[in-house]
Amino acid sequence: MTISNETEQILRYISTRGDAPALGFEDVLLTGLARDGGLYLPETWPTFSATEISAMAGLSYPELALRVMTPFVGDEIPEAEFAALINEAYSVFDHKAVAPLRQLDHDEWLMELFHGPTLAFKDFALQLLGRLLDRTLTNRGARATIVGATSGDTGSAAIEACRDRDAIDIFILHPKGRVSEVQRRQMTTVMSANVHNIAIEGTFDDCQAMVKAMFNNHEFRDEIKLSAVNSINWARVMAQIVYYFHAAVALGSPHREVTFSVPTGNFGDVFAGYCARQMGLPIDQLIVATNRNDILARFFQTGSYAKGTVSPTMSPSMDIQVSSNFERLLFDMEDRDGARIRALMGALDQSGEFDIDADRLAESQKLFTGLAIDEEETLEVIRQITETTGVAIDPHSAIGVAAARRVRRNPASPLVSLATAHTAKFPDAVEKATGVRPELPARLADLMDRPERYDVLPNDLGAVMAKVREHAKTTSQEN
Ligand SMILES: *Cc1c(COP(=O)(O)O)cnc(C)c1O
Repeated sequence: MTISNETEQILRYISTRGDAPALGFEDVLLTGLARDGGLYLPETWPTFSATEISAMAGLSYPELALRVMTPFVGDEIPEAEFAALINEAYSVFDHKAVAPLRQLDHDEWLMELFHGPTLAFKDFALQLLGRLLDRTLTNRGARATIVGATSGDTGSAAIEACRDRDAIDIFILHPKGRVSEVQRRQMTTVMSANVHNIAIEGTFDDCQAMVKAMFNNHEFRDEIKLSAVNSINWARVMAQIVYYFHAAVALGSPHREVTFSVPTGNFGDVFAGYCARQMGLPIDQLIVATNRNDILARFFQTGSYAKGTVSPTMSPSMDIQVSSNFERLLFDMEDRDGARIRALMGALDQSGEFDIDADRLAESQKLFTGLAIDEEETLEVIRQITETTGVAIDPHSAIGVAAARRVRRNPASPLVSLATAHTAKFPDAVEKATGVRPELPARLADLMDRPERYDVLPNDLGAVMAKVREHAKTTSQEN
């Protein structure tokens, strides 16, 4: 492959808070959150020329993935080995095209990102991440303990990605009785010895606060070799960049500019679209579609980033009020000034909000458009799409389609809405909109009959840390 000049040097990663050591790919992979509380980003964006993008036409998904991600990995993983990991990761998808495009209307498309093992787009990143982590740890003779909190989708995708991997133990905390039965069973029916599900007698926020506290406890963090697979891990963003190239090239890039609409929660998915554009992909507009938990939609309208209270919706994977990956975009918007990011994040912690300058807002609005969609319109769009195409979509995907139809700027630019989950994950909403209850696909058909295994613990950090210590194999091993 050809690599442009810039990427011939070794790519380093720097923290958005400007106060942590620059690292190479494998260290960033293992570290997750930077020690200064920031997120890692490439020091410079690798770029592809128009000729190089043209040459991507016709590649299979794994071939394209190798081409798009190689500049981020450099020579830290030999190319043949990286190609094998990628092939394996995407061979577990049910659809041969991996991320097929379905046409909804003239120049309007749905990119189906739900053909992986847990039926949501998070499999794209996590199937690769689990394999990358296992490989890197094994090469170093090390192990890691993954701890994460989930309100639904992330937990099962992380568990599927890490199950049976020799170098990893994984602990997933979920709020007891507050995730759907399908979502819980997707996690608790995995019987692998290295998988530990913990139901916490508390809310998702309680779970998340405990995970944060464990990460901030440096002694504990080092002792059990704590690692994260949550959406702040750079490798997750990296893997998601690929499907933007995949869709755009299929629809005529680099000769045509493309518009994407992205159902958004933690801003990881749409940020990957921004990365693709920084790498040279001609993206005309990125639509940030939210449900009524609209902190991001408000930000792109007003320049004010202000926390609200989380309100439950039919699209629970987007029910968030602070978007962890947003800090990465902010870093670029603020000219990569780590001190400035520390100040803004400090203000957010203290007063629950910050504002950015009008000129920076105007600049970001050239690419990003934010819009919140309410529950009623979400149902209406599911109904409408079923009526006009014969195919139902899930509430998350519907929010993307609805927002796109309202704020798409350039009708000459093909529109791609990201379909982030399979309808069977959210059967109640889909049935309410269409009158037809979606069925689980074959790979999960017997989910409701499989045995479950999980521990129930009180909302108590000490108890959870003790449980993790007890089962994390790292404690009894090397260094
Ligand atoms: C996680 C998730 C989202 C939100 O993606 P972010 O990267 O957090 O913005 C949207 N839809 C579904 C189904 C998800 O699981």
